[in-house]
Amino acid sequence: MNQRDQSVIGIGTVGFSISEIPWTKRDFNELKRFLLSVIDGAINKHRWEDLDYTPNEDIVVMVLNHLRLLITDFQEAFIDESHYIYWSTTDELDEDPTIPIGFPQCSKHKIILSCHGCLFCNSGV
Ligand SMILES: [Zn+2]
Repeated sequence: MNQRDQSVIGIGTVGFSISEIPWTKRDFNELKRFLLSVIDGAINKHRWEDLDYTPNEDIVVMVLNHLRLLITDFQEAFIDESHYIYWSTTDELDEDPTIPIGFPQCSKHKIILSCHGCLFCNSGV
């Protein structure tokens, strides 16, 4: 399953609030630093060569800079840890949690797996 298909996955990156990211108060600063480093990596085209498509650089960088600003301005007081619980537990259909326990990585691509596996392996890269 291709995880970029938001009509299939549902909970994803189409139309979400920054507060819906699975933040925890315990390690908020570390999470925020990590997320900002991921955004910076994407802005700097980290692993763009691994994608099976060519992103529109102007649009992607503009949107990533906007996301970076939203994350930078996000404060611990806005955290609702029920979102972390939602992302990290199974649902009523007894599916795997969206965030697999222990953050396992794809041995081939070295990226963190979701409940559907590796984004690159799933798309045939
Ligand atoms: Zn993989």
